[in-house]
Amino acid sequence: MSFTSLATLMEDALDTGVPISELVITIECEDYGVTPEFIYEKLQRTLSVMRSSCSEYIEKESFSLSGLTGGYAVRMGEYIKNCSPLAGETVAKAAMYALSASEVNASMGVIAAAPTAGACGILPGVLLAVGEKLGSTDDDLIRALLTGTGVGAVIATRATISGAEGGCQAECGTAAAMAAAAACELKCAPADVCINAAALALKNSLGLACDPVCGLVEVPCVKRNAIFTSVAITAADMSLAGIKSVIPADDVVDAMMLIATEMPASIRESGLGGLAITETGRKLKRCFEEKSEN
Ligand code: SF4
Repeated sequence: MSFTSLATLMEDALDTGVPISELVITIECEDYGVTPEFIYEKLQRTLSVMRSSCSEYIEKESFSLSGLTGGYAVRMGEYIKNCSPLAGETVAKAAMYALSASEVNASMGVIAAAPTAGACGILPGVLLAVGEKLGSTDDDLIRALLTGTGVGAVIATRATISGAEGGCQAECGTAAAMAAAAACELKCAPADVCINAAALALKNSLGLACDPVCGLVEVPCVKRNAIFTSVAITAADMSLAGIKSVIPADDVVDAMMLIATEMPASIRESGLGGLAITETGRKLKRCFEEKSEN
């Protein structure tokens, strides 16, 4: 067994009657010669980092060193408390958690890369918000994390999870696919529903540019993390409702890689295209460079 195909992961899980998380733990134990207990302990620590990064900036405002981003998680938290979020509390909370984790990343704090630092808010944001809604235990969250990990591992093996190689589809798109599958596992859905949710989420990010302003993982990254939580949750809900992706999951991953190879370098984390070279993007870069020189 290896992480080369989402279809294989799904079929193996269905054939053996176990959730994807159990297959992932078996593969990890075989590949690294470790015990399931070791992996659970490691993931408990990962979950703890996810929890702290997702809550760190909800109560206290913090700004990045560049001053480009910050204070969003606090605002979202106040909005949830005082207003009725249009998208519902779970989606709004997922966005708030993702904002906090991404703000921690932008301030050089400790986050769990999932799959990368730039996309560190999506999977934990969805896991924690959906977990709260469902009353999930830590064990449930860890199993969901394993399912998300399996999806991410296949995408990393089969395609790429690097923004520099494949644009933001490879980072935020992968994170959304991982989170969608994880959310389905939290609902105890079978493997085909989890993998279908991943396909739906990833499809929605195809072609997305990596175009960070000033070359910093802040604009548009922080807000993009928040918004991609709703992509993941909607993909999970659609899959749970029985809506199938016409294009199979592995084909979606392959399409993502093909798009990556066809993407110009200007929109692959080079800071030479997209939002980075808008009038405002250029102005911010000039200000940031002047500030750095002084
Ligand atoms: S825009 Fe680029 S740096 Fe920012 S999250 Fe997306 S892939 Fe990462």
